[in-house]
Amino acid sequence: MTGQNIQIDSNFDGGNIEVLSVDGAGATLAIRADHMSEFKQWFHFRVSGAAGRELVLRITDLETSAYPLGWPGYNCRVSEDREYWATAASSYDKDADGGTLTVRYTPASDLAWFAYFAPYSMERHHDLVAECAASEGVSCRCLGTTLDGQPIDCLEMGEGDKQVWLYARQHPGETQAEWWMEGALERLTDPADPIARALRARCRFHIVPNCNPDGSRRGHLRTNARGVNLNREWDNPTAENSPEVLALRNAMDETGVDFAMDVHGDEAIPAVFLAGYEGLPGLTDDHYAGFTRYRAILDRRTPDFQTEKGYVPAQPGQANLSMSTTQVAHRFGATAMTLEMPYKDNDDLPDPEQNWSPERCRQLGRDCLGALLEWLDGAG
Ligand SMILES: [Zn+2]
Repeated sequence: MTGQNIQIDSNFDGGNIEVLSVDGAGATLAIRADHMSEFKQWFHFRVSGAAGRELVLRITDLETSAYPLGWPGYNCRVSEDREYWATAASSYDKDADGGTLTVRYTPASDLAWFAYFAPYSMERHHDLVAECAASEGVSCRCLGTTLDGQPIDCLEMGEGDKQVWLYARQHPGETQAEWWMEGALERLTDPADPIARALRARCRFHIVPNCNPDGSRRGHLRTNARGVNLNREWDNPTAENSPEVLALRNAMDETGVDFAMDVHGDEAIPAVFLAGYEGLPGLTDDHYAGFTRYRAILDRRTPDFQTEKGYVPAQPGQANLSMSTTQVAHRFGATAMTLEMPYKDNDDLPDPEQNWSPERCRQLGRDCLGALLEWLDGAG
């Protein structure tokens, strides 16, 4: 006796799952690849009709996902009110059905939402930019339009001459990045926050909370409406394939860039870390010191950040200039960096209830701004 079959839906903003079979409170699932692309890892779906019953959800074929190393040690996220996201006990078997993540959870109510990380919908994006645009001294301009016809929003504020660019979600399934933006923008638009006031006096901020609205709404992991990875387009963006990057880079060309942060999530590494521009052709010690000094400041200011775990730096002269951090560092002589947050837990400061969470992303956004003010103070 398995009871009545649950129902699984994903036809909504940011939704992604394929239902292979349902049996009572159990289901066998697979992740749909990004449109016109092989990348797959992001999922987000709703289960209905399981109040008080243990759900057993098997997400299969994950050895062909973009980052198979993302699954061991990972816990699926679940919410019943779509506000608080907790972990649902998950285990990975790479040998079962091409790699299977088995998620077990007993909802108290009839509806439960499951996702790779706490989702950040385009509707929430519009709430965020509307709230910011309504606050004192903030303007919002559209840098361009995506292939699906969505605006690329850029919030601007501050009266200083340091040009600071903060941008997120080139990879739409990395929703951590827009939660980070929410925390950063809350701080920057708070008239009572002394760090925000000091930063706005010294900098002109250009903030793009979502660089890839099409991928976000389509439930993609890594690409836009044409299946293009925007963070491999920065050396040669085109209106046909990557209008998002073309618009952003053109806007940067107009203002110049002193400091840039590109905000991401990393599937495999259970830590927060920064990646820089070690491999830049002709990189000087002075230029690189801008990055290492910021990294050291952030490391001292928040226990959520660390410098041991991260990507292997590029060899001298071997930088990939199709990526935004290296292109921006090279093009403008800027201090540029890629911030990575985990899908897994932060192993240095674990949280069994939520693992890495939207709340932690927001706090890190605030802390990164505090570090920026300290960095400016030491910049001479
Ligand atoms: Zn990314």
